Formats: sequence, structure tokens, C-alpha cells
Amino acid sequence: MSGSTNSRINANCPQPSADDSHEHEHSNIDPPSWPRGSLLIVLKLVKVVWASPNSLLGVCVGGVGLIVGTRVRFRGGCIEFWGGSIPWIFSRLPVRPGAMALGHVVLAIDEATLHRAGPHERIHVRQYERWGPLFLPAYGIASWWAWRRGRRAYRDNPFEVEAYEDDARRAALETTRVDDNNR
Ligand SMILES: [Zn+2]
Repeated sequence: MSGSTNSRINANCPQPSADDSHEHEHSNIDPPSWPRGSLLIVLKLVKVVWASPNSLLGVCVGGVGLIVGTRVRFRGGCIEFWGGSIPWIFSRLPVRPGAMALGHVVLAIDEATLHRAGPHERIHVRQYERWGPLFLPAYGIASWWAWRRGRRAYRDNPFEVEAYEDDARRAALETTRVDDNNR
């Protein structure tokens, strides 16, 4: 009886073969560790791909204006478009924004607005990296939900709350820095 048990155990746990023992010889060697920089690059690429449907939309909106004077540059991991046809396009949207992020694309009516609103839009870029193709539907639902509860559809949208809180933190930091310099 014990013999049959042993043979069952042996069947489920075969003795190491010559090849296995060869593997075991190397099992004490640590797997090659990835440099931290490589992991960060892979993570960034995943975020770029995840947000890419929105970025593609942004490139289309900004790109069509290049023939009528829209300007473009690549800065801080984002493509920035401003001027040209963008004021005309934004004036036809219900909320008439000065600037807007679509994935890793930031669009603005002019360079001054791009400069002023850039940090706020970068928060939305981070949100696109988290939400990917779900960002625009989630943003719309969040605005609708805020409006349904009698709040402001834009400013009480949690995505905007996060971006405006960051604006406030940055402004407070800037004030502290100016105060320190004036002492
Ligand atoms: Zn915003």
C-alpha cells in the first residue's frame, strides 16, 4: 500500500532529471535585474499607448490647423498646438476653453494661454495616462453626475477638482518663493 502511495507521489513529483539538476545549478544566480531607467521607459511607453486614441484625436484637431497658421512644438513629453484654427474651433464648443488636453496633446488658443494653462493641462495629461480611452466618457459622466446633484458641471467635476487643487498648490508655492526672495 505504501509502495503504491509512494509511486503516486513519485508520479506527481518526478525526480529531477539531468536537465533539471542542470537548471538547479543555476537557480542561485539572480535573474538579470533591469535598470530602473529601462522600467520607467517601458512604463512611460505603456502610458503613451494607453492614451494614444485621445492623442490621435488631438493630433487631428491640431494638425488640420497647420495650413492656416497653427503652431506646433514638442515639449515635456507632449505635442503642443496653439493659434491658427484652434480659437475658431474652441469658440464653437459649449464651454469655450482657452486650452485643452487630448491625451499627450495640448491645444491652446494662443501661446500666452498655453504658457498659463500648461501646468493645469499637464494634470489632465496624467489623468489620460491613468484612464486612457475611458477618460473622455468618464469626464462626461463625472460632469453629468455633478450637474445631477445640483453642483457645477465643470468646476465640481472630480477631474477638474484635482487639476484646480494642483493649480492652488502651485500658486501657494510660488507665493512662498516670492515671499522668501523678498526677505
Ligand atoms: Zn481642466
